[in-house]
Amino acid sequence: MNMTPKRSSFGTYLNNLVNGVTSMFEGMSITLASMFFRAQTIQYPDVNIHSNEELVKDYKGNLRGMPANYRGMLHVDMEICTACMICMKACPIDCIAITNVKCDKRTFVGVGGKKAVQTRAATRFDIDLGKCMFCGLCSLPCPTGAIHHTTQFEFVPDNLEALVYKFVTPQEAQKAEARAKEIEVEEKAAKAAKAKAEAEAKPAEPQPENN
Ligand code: SF4
Ligand code: SF4
Repeated sequence: MNMTPKRSSFGTYLNNLVNGVTSMFEGMSITLASMFFRAQTIQYPDVNIHSNEELVKDYKGNLRGMPANYRGMLHVDMEICTACMICMKACPIDCIAITNVKCDKRTFVGVGGKKAVQTRAATRFDIDLGKCMFCGLCSLPCPTGAIHHTTQFEFVPDNLEALVYKFVTPQEAQKAEARAKEIEVEEKAAKAAKAKAEAEAKPAEPQPENN
């Protein structure tokens, strides 16, 4: 037999009423408080989340832009790429395809002040971002800092081909190949000229005397 005293229906009604009013004020207090604080939700994509300056100006809370070390879409600065293929070899899933040819030797300073020497130029530098897992293993060993992640993450093309980013244009590849052929001819000519000069510089061998 249940011995728990039953609450009167009026008591239950009053209790529900108090709960309802209390919870309404609790909710309203949160709404009211939000009127005096800066917004904590970034209105993406209306707001440029790549600009820290913009976010700091509009959102004085703890919100910041994309972190600098965010591993977004890869980019290659071909001005400081030596076509060494280290990144291609480091990629565990073969996203990167590079071909190269001989080029005029040049010395430059890469990212971080490291001196680099270029002797080859890329005739193809493709990254298949459809396969890429953004692990960063290609950018870490790059000797010049040419390949790096950006904070860009929005890329939704309507075909898979567009996910293959090409950093060398067909015109640039043609130009590099033409120069490589010229360099080959120049090197052969220089070698032949050197051999000729060496032969001419050699003292004439003494002729045997005729008795
Ligand atoms: S490792 Fe760096 S320098 Fe070498 S090919 Fe890749 S991007 Fe270019
Ligand atoms: S981030 Fe990783 S998967 Fe993507 S290209 Fe670089 S090494 Fe390959």
